[in-house]
Amino acid sequence: MRIGILALQGAVREHRDMLRCLGVETADVLTSEDLRGISGLVLPGGESTTVGKLMARYGLLEPVAEVGRAGLPIFGTCTGLILLSKHINNSSQRRLGLMDTCVERNAFGRQLASFEADMPIPALGSKPFHTVFIRAPYIEKAGSGVTTLLCHEGKTLFAQQGNLLAAAFHPELTDDTRVHEYFLRIVAASRQA
Ligand code: GLN
Repeated sequence: MRIGILALQGAVREHRDMLRCLGVETADVLTSEDLRGISGLVLPGGESTTVGKLMARYGLLEPVAEVGRAGLPIFGTCTGLILLSKHINNSSQRRLGLMDTCVERNAFGRQLASFEADMPIPALGSKPFHTVFIRAPYIEKAGSGVTTLLCHEGKTLFAQQGNLLAAAFHPELTDDTRVHEYFLRIVAASRQA
């Protein structure tokens, strides 16, 4: 099983290291050909307007949206969460628009632009998860097909819609592999189906 990582910008190496440490083969995705033969795709953090533009320039926006609609598991962190969303407040930036969510970018005040906190995420077990936020977005609204996995002070920070998983925080910057393992379970289930 091979997991693709969108490698246009951002925290690519950290996701690669974490997946390899879980024994998973990875492949950098730079063109639509790279989507062939992967069982899942990770969209790392970065800057969502830039990544959206680069995806369009590299001819990746529509092909990735298409494989996502066809059921390929996709896991977006931070910028990835923004790109997955159908609606982005006050922005017409390019996106995949796969998740029935409305997101607010750079949603935490200046002092909280970057922060870390231990948060309970029951889907990952009883031990809280150390969440790292960097100029993070949050999900303001979501449709009924979206399951909230972490909500803090009314802000949804981790959510799933079928094959799509989105986190406002950066699990790849910790040494806790549980979010990636959760994604790999979505991948395993989709391979069985
Ligand atoms: N603020 C960034 C954006 O809007 C996201 C930051 C991140 O991915 N860490 O794309």
